[in-house]
Amino acid sequence: MDETLIKKMITSIKCGSCGQNYHEDHIEVVERNDELWFLRVSCSSCHVRCLVAVIIRENAKAEVITDLTEEEVEKFKNMDGIKDEDLLAMHNFLKDFNGDIPRLFDQE
Ligand SMILES: [Zn+2]
Repeated sequence: MDETLIKKMITSIKCGSCGQNYHEDHIEVVERNDELWFLRVSCSSCHVRCLVAVIIRENAKAEVITDLTEEEVEKFKNMDGIKDEDLLAMHNFLKDFNGDIPRLFDQE
């Protein structure tokens, strides 16, 4: 899976704020580790930014896991980078994740 394909995939996602599809030019790869990608996207229409995590599995459909608000993007930027343990933890977490993203962030 290369960057262009990932970006193409993200353009099929609609902005959570205004419903506009994301544009390829506004997608930036933040971090990549094997099957897990983090991308920063910004809406070309309402300019809301968010972070998207994508897991690519061999022979399987890619799944978009989450998107984060700009606050969370800032938080990621201030982190020391993603370590293997973090990825493993996230991987395990996502296996059981039911997709209820808003509730996830309500817990802060
Ligand atoms: Zn938007």
